[in-house]
Amino acid sequence: MAESVDVLVVGGGLAGMTAALELQRRGRRVLIVEKGARLGGKAGSTHTSLGEFPTGPTSFNGRVAAFWRLFALLGLPEDEVVKLHPRSGARFVVRGGKLRGLQPNPLSVAFTGALSFGEKWSLVREFLAPKPRRTETTDESMHELLVRRFGASAVEHFFSAVFTGIFAGDLRQLSAQACMPALVTAEKEYGSVLKGALRALEHHEPGTRPGLFTFKQGFGVLGERAATLVPCLLGTTLDSLTVDAHGVAAQAGATRITASSVVLATEAEVAAPLLAPSLPATAGVLSGFGYAPIALVQWAERTPGESRLPNGFGYLSAPVEALFSLGALFVGDLRGESPRRFSSFVGGALQAARAALPDAELIAGVQADLLRLTGGTLGEVVNIVRWDRAVFQPAVGHADSLRRLEASLAGVPVALAGSYFGGAAMKDAIHSGFAAADRAFAFPASAPVLRSAS
Ligand SMILES: Cc1cc2nc3c(=O)[nH]c(=O)nc-3n(C[C@H](O)[C@H](O)[C@H](O)COP(=O)(O)OP(=O)(O)OC[C@H]3O[C@@H](n4cnc5c(N)ncnc54)[C@H](O)[C@@H]3O)c2cc1C
Repeated sequence: MAESVDVLVVGGGLAGMTAALELQRRGRRVLIVEKGARLGGKAGSTHTSLGEFPTGPTSFNGRVAAFWRLFALLGLPEDEVVKLHPRSGARFVVRGGKLRGLQPNPLSVAFTGALSFGEKWSLVREFLAPKPRRTETTDESMHELLVRRFGASAVEHFFSAVFTGIFAGDLRQLSAQACMPALVTAEKEYGSVLKGALRALEHHEPGTRPGLFTFKQGFGVLGERAATLVPCLLGTTLDSLTVDAHGVAAQAGATRITASSVVLATEAEVAAPLLAPSLPATAGVLSGFGYAPIALVQWAERTPGESRLPNGFGYLSAPVEALFSLGALFVGDLRGESPRRFSSFVGGALQAARAALPDAELIAGVQADLLRLTGGTLGEVVNIVRWDRAVFQPAVGHADSLRRLEASLAGVPVALAGSYFGGAAMKDAIHSGFAAADRAFAFPASAPVLRSAS
């Protein structure tokens, strides 16, 4: 079988679907080749008799314009997007083996048991009496930035937990510039990371809505809609790719595909070997990019209250607490649904081996954590999701790697997309999808003469 299109898009996660939809809107003939059975990548839903469980992300920040731009391309009905239910307002951090609450209000930091008095004072000092601004322009680790601003104790007990919920990473390895560019800029502009963070909370891009949102039927709706709009080969792995200045030839199972350009929107570690034969320098940079693995243990209360977990968004735990899991999201509370449903996550960069443990050991570990934290029981385990490459880990110096990546692609009809552009979040994936569409659009539309892919 042979296919000839303007742009071949490899990988139908958020990055790939964004690029494909945008290119199609501009009149390009696109084809998505997606290894999985559905579009959406990590962003998806499992529907069970006890309700919907997210396979990856659970909510998004409505202040980011890129989300609304993608939803417009998808023609997503207004009522599919819903604000988080008030029941999910409280967040918890584990401290001394107990859940310590935080409300979605900066002032609640003053009253939380998640920080000691001395640590709260370090936050006040950072806000009121900023230390001298950092003058070096080189990147530093998240750990270095946070310890410099707030002291080691606040980082060990509080910030390590908070950032586990975003990166599941090792703060000593993660790049401050890539992970939290707003904090780095805030320090330069205001002399205080906290001041900048508070101003960022007030800021929202034009055409956006303040608040946290999710979807009435879960994140799976994005991939379902995209699959009705863009031609795609689902359940098809791209096996090989040949690229030169004139175009692209690829082999995906029994299908030979030629195109004027390609958007590679897989994880970096997958893109690297595909590009190695044609673009070894690009592949060299991509192969240095790493991900943290995560296993999700998803469960529901069989009888109301058996977990003894309070209502809220979820809890996070710092490594110093020595729990088995990294935390849990109260996924049923996000839409105020019953029975209450939870997604406990295990692994991350610091405990990578745990994400590969057999199901029974994962469940036993999560149950032991719950017993320790609340004395409650796990209820019914409904689902276990495993991601070997769950969350991208931008290492110190990541911006330099991205510059080398861009330089290595000069003149070739290849655009890369994925959450490794920027930090590790959905918004990075979507932004990169739009940027890849711009790049691919710059190459002529007509597909080249068929050539064979090795
Ligand atoms: C458990 C979890 C929770 C998360 N929570 C949040 C959150 O709350 N907020 C947030 O912002 N981000 C969150 N993230 C991160 C977010 O999900 C990602 O940043 C984003 O979904 C990445 O999108 P992507 O398109 O770059 O990659 P992916 O979703 O990984 O898509 C890549 C696609 O490429 C396909 N593919 C791979 N190899 C091939 C091949 N050879 N041929 C064809 N197709 C191939 C894959 O099947 C996949 O569909 C979470 C991630 C996980 C795992």
